[in-house]
Amino acid sequence: MKVLVVEDQRRLGLMLKQGLAEAGYCVGFAGTCAAARDALCETSYDAIVLDLGLPDGDGLDLLQQWRKSGFNEPVIILSARDAVQDRIKGLDVGADDYLPKPFSLPELLARLRSLLRRQANVKDTVLEHRGIRLDLVGRTTHYHGAAMDLTSREFALLEIFMQNPGRILTRSLICERVWSSPYEVDANLLDVYMSKLRAKFESRDDKPMFKTVRGVGYKLQ
Ligand code: CA
Repeated sequence: MKVLVVEDQRRLGLMLKQGLAEAGYCVGFAGTCAAARDALCETSYDAIVLDLGLPDGDGLDLLQQWRKSGFNEPVIILSARDAVQDRIKGLDVGADDYLPKPFSLPELLARLRSLLRRQANVKDTVLEHRGIRLDLVGRTTHYHGAAMDLTSREFALLEIFMQNPGRILTRSLICERVWSSPYEVDANLLDVYMSKLRAKFESRDDKPMFKTVRGVGYKLQ
């Protein structure tokens, strides 16, 4: 699940980014309206956390444009404007929820889960492949019916493979999606995580679950 954070306060933005990543989401980040527009053009997101007071415009205008253009995923407004009429305006423009600042991160995560769960009826949020069953909203993993205990990073990593079975995924693409940047990641970290996944999802037949494509990346077979 990919969440776009639109927030111009750097510290708060980083805190949100980290909190969401620790909860197992892939996080995109934008500090301006322009960056947010670009981000949404480049990638599809499953939800947006939106600040209103942005240096180059108003988050409400952004939201209005997105809704008009057919963007239908959950949007939570996070704003210091907390008067009742502000909330009403935000919800009228198309927000699904409105959280006044200061807010609690666990509450934001809970509201996000709730919105994604509601959306789950419309979208395919349970991925299955070769005995692995990944519930993106419930954040649970099963392998041949047995519940598996995955860390949030392992979950995010497995999610990318489950969304692209049979496709070779490059190391940089995986790192960018799981760790939000191809540069922050130690080169060996991905290999360490891959061996953890391999240990947890040992193949039950001759074909290994994950194939290493030397010098390129990995493939879920
Ligand atoms: Ca702001």
